[in-house]
Amino acid sequence: MTIPKKMSGAMLPGNSTVEMGSFDVPIPGHGEVLVKVKSSTICGSDIRAIYKEHTGKGPEGYQNGMIAGHEPCGQIVAEGPGCRRFKTGDRVIVYHISGCGVCNDCRRGYMISCTSDKYRRAYGWQRHGGMAEYLLAEEKDLVQLPDELTYSDGAQIACGFGTVYEGLEKIGISGNDAVLVTGLGPVGLATAMLARAMGAKLVIGTDTVAERLSLAKEQGLCDHVFASGPENLAQVKALTSGFGVEKAIDCSANDKARLTCIQATRKWGKICFIGEGGTVQFAPSADIIHDQKTIYGSWVTNIWRMEELVERIVRWGIHPETLITHRFTLEKCADAYALMATGRCGKVAVVFDEEVK
Ligand SMILES: [Zn+2]
Ligand SMILES: [Zn+2]
Repeated sequence: MTIPKKMSGAMLPGNSTVEMGSFDVPIPGHGEVLVKVKSSTICGSDIRAIYKEHTGKGPEGYQNGMIAGHEPCGQIVAEGPGCRRFKTGDRVIVYHISGCGVCNDCRRGYMISCTSDKYRRAYGWQRHGGMAEYLLAEEKDLVQLPDELTYSDGAQIACGFGTVYEGLEKIGISGNDAVLVTGLGPVGLATAMLARAMGAKLVIGTDTVAERLSLAKEQGLCDHVFASGPENLAQVKALTSGFGVEKAIDCSANDKARLTCIQATRKWGKICFIGEGGTVQFAPSADIIHDQKTIYGSWVTNIWRMEELVERIVRWGIHPETLITHRFTLEKCADAYALMATGRCGKVAVVFDEEVK
């Protein structure tokens, strides 16, 4: 296979448009690989912090002119000198933030929280990302994609499914638990899918968007879905012998939905906040202290847990790509972002080669 000199890539100027540009195909240096991108999914954070307007600061600060996309998955087509594990031909998922590798957070595997201003650079934010034909990645950021999984399965693992798995591991999910998921965007749908795979027999979901509710129901991810509203607390209690769920996860970032999560959780239950931004108001004594409840916050995941999740996803026989409702080629990238911005969809992917279906 010959690697071209030039490639096209998509940038996000921040006014709800996509700008296509021509870029040199990078040549991998020491410890780096060149990945032929096969699938690159769009994240809620791309819309929230970049597409509509560049609102992000620090780790969420998008640098103008960067190729967007932090959820890439593909195949290595060239490797630089000094690579220790991965080689040309390997199918790989890219952990979406490249950290310095030597700060305490990086050593824990949480490159998301890397404290180095100089070396922490997220793909698709401060370094080129996956919305292009090729991606230059650091070997240390890679996770092997098993043959049982497609590239579109892989694209969703680093950011979406990894983030969810981390949150679910913090609160612990088993067959004992009834689970409430508020917000059924791609992250909420992934939460329902993983909670089910981890053993939950009763999964309840809420959202304001009808398309998302029907997707969750049709795919069997949730046993019951409800349009978000003040009745949700009573609806959840009615399904749980009047006690509420053992575990609740907010993926909506909506203040009322967060309060529902807290109040619809039974005594001794655990709540996890994954959805980003916004606020919440609750009465500490009545809502958590007297009922012995615990609220966790969870941000992304670490690379070893991501590797573990990949193995479990194969064992559980589930496919993250079933959450993808729309696939676009790179030339139609603008349509992909525009659709994702409406919210009337599941996961949206930009796909290449065999992933074009
Ligand atoms: Zn993401
Ligand atoms: Zn670091």
